[in-house]
Amino acid sequence: MHKRLRIAIVGYGTGGQATAILLSRDGHDVEVFEQAATLGPVGAGFLLQPVGQMVLWELGLLDAVLQYGAPVSRLYGETAAGRPVMDMRYTELDRRLFGLGVQRGALFSLLDAAWTEHRTLHCGVRVTHVDHEAGAVVDQHGRRYEGFDLVVVADGAASSLRAQVAPARLDRPYPWGAQWCLAVISQ
Ligand SMILES: Cc1cc2nc3c(=O)[nH]c(=O)nc-3n(C[C@H](O)[C@H](O)[C@H](O)COP(=O)(O)OP(=O)(O)OC[C@H]3O[C@@H](n4cnc5c(N)ncnc54)[C@H](O)[C@@H]3O)c2cc1C
Repeated sequence: MHKRLRIAIVGYGTGGQATAILLSRDGHDVEVFEQAATLGPVGAGFLLQPVGQMVLWELGLLDAVLQYGAPVSRLYGETAAGRPVMDMRYTELDRRLFGLGVQRGALFSLLDAAWTEHRTLHCGVRVTHVDHEAGAVVDQHGRRYEGFDLVVVADGAASSLRAQVAPARLDRPYPWGAQWCLAVISQ
């Protein structure tokens, strides 16, 4: 694309952050709308999969992220009764592949620091409506932001906007929960 576009991104999670950097570097004017009043990561740890590592390589950030991460070669899980429910080894896909355990805060900060060009970020703005015909987004107070050539909806897995831009084939909450913590094990 050679035309300089005005682009709105809804959500400043990992997806919105990476998209903002890539589109800004291509010379587009990017405005991000994030509902959180204060910027920061949500959640503790993250297993960064090979496809995500490739995006970070494309951004020139993979070496920096590797400094903060721990390689994971195998994912194994079992029930309380000891029955294995998951056993995935990256090497069975490709010997070069691994997951990278990384703190969300580290990933968030690296991506945030890398978005320097054409940066406009609206915090505390929850987008409630996307008007894709008019290229506009509307926030929780009814305020309208107009004139976008493209709106990227990156508001996460529990997206409230996805159905407005493309009907989902399957959109229902997981019936499971998870408890997460960060632990350091010294050997
Ligand atoms: C417990 C748990 C563990 C997970 N572990 C992993 C893992 O190890 N590896 C992995 O790859 N994935 C994991 N996931 C999935 C993971 O959350 C996503 O891969 C990743 O966070 C997706 O990034 P995202 O930018 O798409 O969405 P999110 O990180 O959810 O970011 C969405 C952003 O949009 C903002 N937002 C939402 N709605 C609006 C709105 N209407 N207006 C403005 N802003 C809005 C939110 O505040 C948020 O900042 C996990 C998920 C959970 C719940």
